[in-house]
Parts: sequence; C-alpha cells; structure tokens
Amino acid sequence: MRIAVTGGAGYIGSHTVKLLNEKGFNVLVIDNLFNGHRKAVPDDVTFIKCDINDTENLKKIFNEFKPEAVIHFAAFIEVGESTKNPLTFYLNNVSGTLSLLSVMEQTAVNKIIFSSTAAVYGNPKTVPIPEIEPIKPINPYGQTKATVENVLNDLSQFGNLRYVSLRYFNAAGADPSGLIGESHHPETHLIPLVLKTAKGERENISIFGTDYPTPDGTCIRDYIHVNDLARAHLLALEYLLSDGESEVFNCGYGKGYSVREIIETVKKITGRNFKVIEEERRQGDPAVLVADPSKLKKTLNWNPEFDELDIIIKTAWNWELNRRF
Ligand code: UDP
Repeated sequence: MRIAVTGGAGYIGSHTVKLLNEKGFNVLVIDNLFNGHRKAVPDDVTFIKCDINDTENLKKIFNEFKPEAVIHFAAFIEVGESTKNPLTFYLNNVSGTLSLLSVMEQTAVNKIIFSSTAAVYGNPKTVPIPEIEPIKPINPYGQTKATVENVLNDLSQFGNLRYVSLRYFNAAGADPSGLIGESHHPETHLIPLVLKTAKGERENISIFGTDYPTPDGTCIRDYIHVNDLARAHLLALEYLLSDGESEVFNCGYGKGYSVREIIETVKKITGRNFKVIEEERRQGDPAVLVADPSKLKKTLNWNPEFDELDIIIKTAWNWELNRRF
C-alpha cells in the first residue's frame, strides 16, 4: 500500500512515518526541509525534497508514485509567529494545501488525512471540547487550519474526496528509541524549552501570562505523546482505506496541565532546578484547551499507550540529552 506523506520529515510526521514503515506501508516522504530534518526519515523510506506549492513537480511525483492515500502534515505551526506573519501562514497552509488537493484530484487520489488543530476552537465554551464545538479560531494559525477543514468538507460533500481531519492538541514527547524527537528552529514550544532550560542551554524559562482564569493563573493544555498521535494516523488511514466516511477527530487525552505544572514536572523528572520568569501573555493563546477524545476512542478504537505526563517528559528529556538533529 503506497502512502504519500507531506511534511514527513517534521516532528509528528516523522513519528508517523516510522510507524507506517514498521507496519509495512510503502511510504514516500515529501518535504521541503524548511522545518523538517532529512535525518528524521528512516533510511529505507523514499524521500523527495519538494514544496507542496510546487504544483507541477508535485504532480510528477504523484504520477510516478501513485499513492493510494495522502497524509498531509506540511504546514507552519507556531501560533505566535502566525500573529506576526499571517500571510506567510495562508500561503503555506492554505495555498499549499489547495495545490496538493488539485494534484490529488488530477491524479485520482481521493483519500487524505489532514493535520488540524485544537486552535480551530479558539476559546471553547465546553471543556473538555467535543468535535461539535463551534469553530472560532482566535489566531491566524487556527484560521488557516479551519479554512482547510472547510475546503475538505466541500470537496467531500460535493465531490468524491474522503478525509479524516485530526485536531491535534499539544503533541509532546519523543519516540522511546531515541532515534527521532522534537526539533524546531527556533524552538517555541513549552516542553522542549523547559527541558533546554533544565539542560542549561537557556538561562530561564518564561511563563507567558499568570492571570488566566485557571486555578494557578497559567494556560492549560492537553499534552499528547507523539507516538499515540502517530497511532491515531495509522488508525485513520486504515479507516479511510476500508471505506470510512469523512470524519473529524480530536486527538488528546482529555486531561490538561498548566504551564506551572509542566515546569514542576520537568524539575521532578530531571532532578534539576532552574529560573522561572513570569511574563506578559503571548498573543493568541486561549486559556484552556483540553480534548474530549471519546469519538476517536469509539470510532477508531484508539487506546493511548503513553497517557502519562511523566512518560511524555521522560521520553522528551531522553531525546533532548541525545539529539541526532
Ligand atoms: N508557553 C510559556 N512559555 C514558553 C512557551 C510557551 O508559558 O516559553 C505557554 C504558551 O503561552 C501556552 C503553553 O505554554 O499557553 C503551550 O504553548 P506551546 O507553544 O507549547 O503550544 P501551543 O498551545 O501554542 O500550541
């Protein structure tokens, strides 16, 4: 079974590619290496450097490889950055996806798994958040993902595309093998930044906002281990390949941790102390994002294996100490 994976050299992409490869899928990774890492792709997986906005080249690749389905990770992901350069986000996340979808249509590929995000909910009214919660993003990143979800919905309703949109909460942790893990340049995510501080690579960690309406005043997020997230992609793929209808699923554990709790857990796991600074809020951050993952569990029979903050931090710490890229 041939599967094309855009953004397969990135963080969540590479963990999914490793899993698909181990399960015997014939995987082709397409990545422009803007944020991805060549070393994150296993040696026995075919890799092609290509930007998804390069429609002509992408079409050639699809005509040759003839994928049965696409898993589409390639996108810009930083909320803060999206508030500074919204157009860049639209060009990559929306135009890039339209380019990919047009190639899929021209080459008769009609199954796609899309990397969506909890950011499409903005400040949700119901927490834990069910998939039926209104889509009201409060930052450009979330808007780009919501826009693509609308496109997918139209192509599915009025055409023959079938899709699964996975709304990720906060991906974290690393593969226990130590071969792959999170590596963004510059890094903006909380857990790797706290670990870099514990490691001594940074002088301190900043808490962005301590006046949120949460028990300790800091933002709460649902951190999901990247391998459990990878497994959700495998299950979604099997679902589409066995004629499943278009669907949207939240991917999280249904349990949230505050920024302060993350910092305390890192101190506990690493046995290191470090300086914590309280700063102003970061633009575009909702106070609480926690998933209701019951639909994913019920429909795709997803059972998380790494559902513990300690395991997430331990695997991420192991990666941080022995990074390959
Ligand atoms: N955060 C923080 N300090 C940092 C980085 C992040 O306090 O140095 C906070 C951020 O404001 C958010 C939470 O940690 O409330 C998770 O942020 P991250 O960027 O990891 O993921 P996001 O939820 O934005 O996808």
